[in-house]
Amino acid sequence: MARGYDNYKNRADLISSFGRELTRRSGSSCELCGASGVSLSVFEVPPVKVEPESSDCVFICGECREQLENPKKFRNSHWRCLTDRVWSETGSVKILSVMILKKVSLTESWASDIIENVYLSDEENEQVERSGI
Ligand SMILES: [Zn+2]
Repeated sequence: MARGYDNYKNRADLISSFGRELTRRSGSSCELCGASGVSLSVFEVPPVKVEPESSDCVFICGECREQLENPKKFRNSHWRCLTDRVWSETGSVKILSVMILKKVSLTESWASDIIENVYLSDEENEQVERSGI
């Protein structure tokens, strides 16, 4: 049975508790742009599930987070860094990269060229459609 996270603080605490595992997985560098020596935080890939899991999260730097959370700060050129991330063996990194490149591809053909070559399962495609990014 799923445990309930009835307030935001519990959920936020739980998500930040993934930090140790994600530090190891990421090698302490941003899982999107590769920045190292910067502070990293846990980002849940949308749409978020009732029960957060580290496998649905990506460890990212402040710059990537700001662009994702604030559409006014979103700069297409920053996301060139995702060219090889779409091939990541970490599912959450791959799918978040596709979500972002899909948005970039609305105006940039280099981004459509990349995502055209990426294979996604039906389930992953649906997640991308519902992401809201
Ligand atoms: Zn980054």
